[in-house]
Amino acid sequence: METTNIPLMSTARQYEELKEEINAEMMQVLESGQYIMGPKVQEFEKAIADYCEVEEAIGVANGTDALLLTLEALGIGAGDQVITTTFSFFATAEVISKLGARPVFVDIDPDTYNLDVSQIEKCITNKTKAIIPVHLFGQPAEMDSIMQIAKKHNLYVIEDACQAIGSTYKDKKIGSIGDAACFSFFPTKNLGGFGDGGMITTNNADLAKDLKTLRVHGSTKKYFHSVIGYNSRLDPIQAAALQVKLAYIDQYNEKRREIAAKYNEAFKDLPIQLPVELEQVKSVYHLYIVQTDKRKALMEHLSEQNIQSGVYYPLPLHLQEVYKKLKYRKGSLPVAELAAERTMALPLFPELTEAEQQHIITVVKDFF
Ligand SMILES: *Cc1c(COP(=O)(O)O)cnc(C)c1O
Repeated sequence: METTNIPLMSTARQYEELKEEINAEMMQVLESGQYIMGPKVQEFEKAIADYCEVEEAIGVANGTDALLLTLEALGIGAGDQVITTTFSFFATAEVISKLGARPVFVDIDPDTYNLDVSQIEKCITNKTKAIIPVHLFGQPAEMDSIMQIAKKHNLYVIEDACQAIGSTYKDKKIGSIGDAACFSFFPTKNLGGFGDGGMITTNNADLAKDLKTLRVHGSTKKYFHSVIGYNSRLDPIQAAALQVKLAYIDQYNEKRREIAAKYNEAFKDLPIQLPVELEQVKSVYHLYIVQTDKRKALMEHLSEQNIQSGVYYPLPLHLQEVYKKLKYRKGSLPVAELAAERTMALPLFPELTEAEQQHIITVVKDFF
């Protein structure tokens, strides 16, 4: 056991399990000759819309584009402000800046790492157009409060659901609550493809129509262009493979929850902060995050035992070099800054074996 490597995430193991099904579906696309859009993409869009309990789903090239095209379709641009969490993957803020708008960062809740809703209202100005909550590590943000604030101030809510497909908030599927939600099918996400892929879900038919125009060069009729758009489509070969995996997503997410529960039980007496799952949500544990002031030493100890671990994310967005001009400083958003120094992810994915789980538990306990 000690000699085998335990990866933080695994993509190849899932492929091994579903190889025949996935190969057959991908082969069909190869043989069809249709490599852009077409029926496989449409079928998968319909499947995601049904799964997320929404009217519309629009496939795009990746999760970043899902956010970018949605913000643009909602008319967000130069001079606007968009409120989001400082503790996320860079893309969440990048898309706001790309459109010439300004990201306004809020601090996080120390238990869930999701944006602290009590900090939102004081950031709202007459330039604020939208809020982007991120359902970080697979746990939905406090959507009721966020929707209430948005309604009161007439703001859009775009959910960054890239880490949270299949999670629920008060029994509602993530992807169905805000004005739109954005998903990524990056290989290591809970529903991961074999390359890049993304999707937007919404109940707003006009928005869906605009997104479908934007993703094909701003065109509704081939070679006739009404707006400046993008080339951002989901490949049918990805759609075909993802459709196979979608049938297993609940099972995979349930497995993630089981492993998380096992870790929680095993680590409950250790001097580390464990993940906190709110009562009204069902997290899909995209990552299993623990917090300790001995992070570096624990990661080294794990590494010596051939167990991979990782840091998500080492620097909050408000302190990124590119955002110096926004004049945040160290201490501006202290909860996220502390989390960035102390949090780490342990291996958790559906194919992690019992023996591997046990080994991880033993090694972590040994350390303390
Ligand atoms: C992965 C991720 C994205 C970006 O998705 P890509 O498909 O890699 O472009 C955006 N936001 C969050 C929170 C993510 O985890």
